[in-house]
Amino acid sequence: MKKNEELRAKADAYRAEIQDLAQRPYNIMEVCGTHTVAIAKNALRDLLPDTIHLISGPGCPVCVTDNSDIDRFLYLAAQPNVITATFGDMIRVPGTKKDLQTLRAEGADVRIVYSTQDALELARHNPGKEVVFLGIGFETTVPTVAVSIKTAQKENIANYSVLSMHKVVPPVLRFLAEDKEIMVDAFLDPGHVCAVIGIEPIKFMAEKYGKPGVVTGFEALDILEAIAMLLRQRKEGRSEIEIQYNRVVKAKGNPHAQLIMNQVFEPVDASWRGIGLISQSGLGIREEYSQWDAIRKFSLPVFHSKETPGCRCGDVLKGLIYPTQCPLFAKHCTPMKPVGPCMVSSEGSCAAYYRYLQGSVK
Ligand code: SF4
Repeated sequence: MKKNEELRAKADAYRAEIQDLAQRPYNIMEVCGTHTVAIAKNALRDLLPDTIHLISGPGCPVCVTDNSDIDRFLYLAAQPNVITATFGDMIRVPGTKKDLQTLRAEGADVRIVYSTQDALELARHNPGKEVVFLGIGFETTVPTVAVSIKTAQKENIANYSVLSMHKVVPPVLRFLAEDKEIMVDAFLDPGHVCAVIGIEPIKFMAEKYGKPGVVTGFEALDILEAIAMLLRQRKEGRSEIEIQYNRVVKAKGNPHAQLIMNQVFEPVDASWRGIGLISQSGLGIREEYSQWDAIRKFSLPVFHSKETPGCRCGDVLKGLIYPTQCPLFAKHCTPMKPVGPCMVSSEGSCAAYYRYLQGSVK
């Protein structure tokens, strides 16, 4: 009981400080799908003054995966003798014509796994088949995928490979800072990503572009504190990257995870949904591990797919519109019948808005 009272007192103090410092409008973008969900779930927008605009950004890895990449893995999943191993969110993400769920109904072998270890286990138990893990995610998940490839090398598991569609956060932050359409003053930076990479790779946002950021945890109180920290920076005329989530994030990140990630992966250009190609914003598998690279192993063709007609996921991901401003939202597009990935993924902005706050946006 005492603990609850303490937490409430803290929340009240942050809200009072935010109220006091938010005399002028301030646009804050959260670059993490988990933050998007936490903000919606805790109705934080309703607790803030009207001058504070919380805008969701390209922080959901499933959502930012370009249609070309989706069509590419659907092509691969339809090949004979292939088992596609994927996390659950991907199974309903629509490509140009189909999704994995439909392919599975048509006979493709698609398995939902909960870790890369599950995917490796599938390969061990199905030596006559090729097991391909769909690698989607930011720096948070990449180290575990790298470990799976190293394990496959060590144990000589030749029928395992990864289709790497991984992305890294600093280049997309640079895009957000440079794009003239995007009106963001400051960022809630992703706690999980920065737990791996630290803050050095994103300091340029504050130093070069004058866009302060606070690396933030995922409780309502964390987010309120981070907003207060950003407003303090504005009041004091500072532009820095600060860490609110210091119970997990260290300035230098996790050097061991960085080492493993860099041993297996190298930066490559990558396409982001609604944004297009961003230089060096993806991760490809290094030559040394090419045997476990599905792109090389299956000589996968490059697809040039278009966005799903009517879906405005791209604008949602750039923070140009709120999900509720998409004409299809909650009418033709719902979590049960999603038109775009932002409504499929549990971290997607459209899904979060649908679930928690259809009417309330500011
Ligand atoms: Fe796309 Fe549906 Fe979101 Fe509209 S509501 S942007 S159609 S996912």
